[in-house]
Amino acid sequence: MIKIHTVGGYSEVGKNMTVVEFDEDAFIFDEGFFLPAIVELQEKDRDEFTYSESKLKQIKAIPEDSSIESIRHKVCAQFVGHAHLDHVGAIPYLSDKYNATIYGTPYTLAVLDSLLRDSDLNLRNNIKTIHPNTSFYVQGKKKKYLVEFVNITHSTPQTSLIVLHTEKGAIIYANDFKLDDNPVLGARPNYEKLKQIAKQGVYAIIVDSLYSGADRKTPSEKIARNLLEEVMFSVDKKDSGMIITTFSSHIARLKSIVEFGERLNKQLVFLGRSLNKYSFAAKDVDIAPFLKNIHFATYRRQVEKALQKVDRRKQDYILVCTGHQGEPGSILERISRGNLPLKLNHQYNILFSSSVIPTEVNKKNFEEMETKLKKKNARIFRDLHVSGHGGKEDLRELLQILNPQHIIPSHGGFDKTGPMRDLAVSMGWKENKQVHLMSDGDVLEL
Ligand SMILES: [Zn+2]
Repeated sequence: MIKIHTVGGYSEVGKNMTVVEFDEDAFIFDEGFFLPAIVELQEKDRDEFTYSESKLKQIKAIPEDSSIESIRHKVCAQFVGHAHLDHVGAIPYLSDKYNATIYGTPYTLAVLDSLLRDSDLNLRNNIKTIHPNTSFYVQGKKKKYLVEFVNITHSTPQTSLIVLHTEKGAIIYANDFKLDDNPVLGARPNYEKLKQIAKQGVYAIIVDSLYSGADRKTPSEKIARNLLEEVMFSVDKKDSGMIITTFSSHIARLKSIVEFGERLNKQLVFLGRSLNKYSFAAKDVDIAPFLKNIHFATYRRQVEKALQKVDRRKQDYILVCTGHQGEPGSILERISRGNLPLKLNHQYNILFSSSVIPTEVNKKNFEEMETKLKKKNARIFRDLHVSGHGGKEDLRELLQILNPQHIIPSHGGFDKTGPMRDLAVSMGWKENKQVHLMSDGDVLEL
């Protein structure tokens, strides 16, 4: 008997956590943050990084795992698919109560390590590094399970589809992904392995449906690289300054920015704690040699000193910083308020290699910041970005390759998962019998 516990990420975008129960054993996939709640918390309390589990649950910032309390003793492994906070962020607060090893790829675990250091927490769990495209065994109560981490593309390095082999067939956790055949960093999706697994039989797939309603195949990261290249080279004029903001964990995007910056003969300066954290995690696991000539200004004094220098000769530098969502307290937001020693004017070009994640908090923050930037006459270039989540056509392709018996759409409420059900039904899967829409705290018995 297989039960799928949809603990978090099925009623909102975030706090992803799914538990697969198979006879005497259970396996956790991801333990993530609900980021809007975390952002709100940090705005109230800027320098605090340590929160209690009960406080975080109270504000719905982490999954409510009390729904699996009765099977806690069955948990024999905790898998993390990638390094995004909505997948890994809650591990420091939840994982300790499960007597089970944590498994992730080198980059994911390097980020987890820095989260633990930030929050000054130590875990008693064993932590085991799994390289992309490798397999290993997990010992259950009475039997061993073969598990594979299959390389897939997304917007942070070493993202994996996790495959749990059972007697009923493979159970695949595909949260998050897109199918990018021209990635800027790392390898293409491992189609050969997926086809091989499909031949043996896929029993169920838990699948990222965030953009299942979008009639598209999500463009390759190569396209975002081209968008950046065009703008970075066209705005490079005498006496002009350039500020670029993007997702700190998007190492492929940072690679493009650095490579074009170096071709333009600029000194790149990475500002703020978040860029420092994700860049050093990438350096630690040897996937980012392109970061070797970057100047990092991380703490307040360093940032101020760097900006004073840049402001005197702005044409020699490219600033890379946080603030793409207009987050209060981020570097770009503070620059927009005149809270840092850099005088914005019409000579500054501000490149958003990002899109605004459409939550109310983000939209409001972004608008406020943009208004301030415009008041200072800075030139603004938005949406130099492509998503890391597959659209409807990526999803169709994955379903065609894997041909699973059961489909569990994930990564959002019914507004996100409904279109995935419709797609699957249009391809021949049976509603409710094979395609299952779930909410947080539900259990699906197969
Ligand atoms: Zn993700």
